[in-house]
Amino acid sequence: MLKLPTLMRFLEIKIKMITFIKTQRGARKLIFQEYSYNKVKDGPDGKTYWRCDEIPLKYGGTATTDRNNSVFLGQPHNHAPSPTKIAVKRVNSTIKENAVTSPNTPRDLVNSSLEGISDGVKIHLPELKKLQKTVSRKRKNVGAICLVPHSLVEIDIPPRLRRTKTATQENFILSDSGTEDANHIIIFGCTTDVNRLIQCDTWVVDGTFKSAPNLWYQLWVIHGVFFNKTVPFIFAFLPSKSEVIYERALTTVLAKIDAIRPAAELS
Ligand SMILES: [Zn+2]
Repeated sequence: MLKLPTLMRFLEIKIKMITFIKTQRGARKLIFQEYSYNKVKDGPDGKTYWRCDEIPLKYGGTATTDRNNSVFLGQPHNHAPSPTKIAVKRVNSTIKENAVTSPNTPRDLVNSSLEGISDGVKIHLPELKKLQKTVSRKRKNVGAICLVPHSLVEIDIPPRLRRTKTATQENFILSDSGTEDANHIIIFGCTTDVNRLIQCDTWVVDGTFKSAPNLWYQLWVIHGVFFNKTVPFIFAFLPSKSEVIYERALTTVLAKIDAIRPAAELS
């Protein structure tokens, strides 16, 4: 039996036209000179061994990379390179990667990823709508990674986080005016705390600016004097300190109190 290293003609390639892409399942692929390789295994000293993904047999083309990402070609390929296939893989991978990191809408992201891509490659890609769906799906899957919003209307609390519960298993989000609202207001407070606030004869309202997230102007807190102690019960992110905004916030809180009160009185 022939040993692989004796078969290999190690050729150092000085030009680093090397890229790594990710497959659907998150595995790394090496793209080099219009050939694409699957990882075989890690070797010593930061080396990685790769084998052509087109003919994934014992005698497919091989390559080794070192920790500086220099490529050493091993066994040659017994087929021509496939620039189109490689380009398709690259685009797919770029779109998926950008889905997680880019703040652009799925449509803008797909469009910019397709800039400069030839029609010959495009016909091998899924249709635009499908690519946009891929972006949305990918974003949903990595829900933990929230994109940094640039305006209040971009702040869309993912469903997973909307269900955030307090220690007493109550909803924490009392009201969210939504992404359509340029003066987006989010109010936090659980039923128990709203009920406690109702019992307070004295309310103390206070705004803090330091603790508010960047896009909001202030964190507005409604305290109640509860058994001789001033306790914070309701928290709201407000976009300004205008009268209109205070009124809106207070009206929303009062409406919530009205909605909660009958249940409280029954219990
Ligand atoms: Zn090959």
